[in-house]
Amino acid sequence: MREKYRRFMYGRYGQNGPDQLYRFLTWVVLVCIVLNWFVKSSFLYYVVWFLVIYSLYRHFSKNYQARYAENQKYLQMTAKFRYCLEQQKKLAGERKYHHIYTCPKCKQKIRIPKGKGKIMVRCPKCYHEFQKRS
Ligand SMILES: [Zn+2]
Repeated sequence: MREKYRRFMYGRYGQNGPDQLYRFLTWVVLVCIVLNWFVKSSFLYYVVWFLVIYSLYRHFSKNYQARYAENQKYLQMTAKFRYCLEQQKKLAGERKYHHIYTCPKCKQKIRIPKGKGKIMVRCPKCYHEFQKRS
């Protein structure tokens, strides 16, 4: 069965697994389905079907270059958004272990590790010193 599938997928776009656009569309489909439990719109119903068929069509397509270009276009269009998301994630990760303080004199943002008790913070920009709990 696996062998059969592999032979079937040979030379098709999805043979190395789903691409980013495929995964994105899958999420959109899931969100639309859940949303449609509440709004019950036939338009959303068609959107879901269209997206499912389009995703599968891309997955099994033999035109690798066209599918690749679509995925690149999707990545390009969402690059800014995905970058923002990544920055937010990074920041959230940093907040776990660091406090972000703002220098009262020059407004420079200073990152201080958490859990060190009362400490003197020296601003790297204007050398103003202030006490903080970390
Ligand atoms: Zn400062």
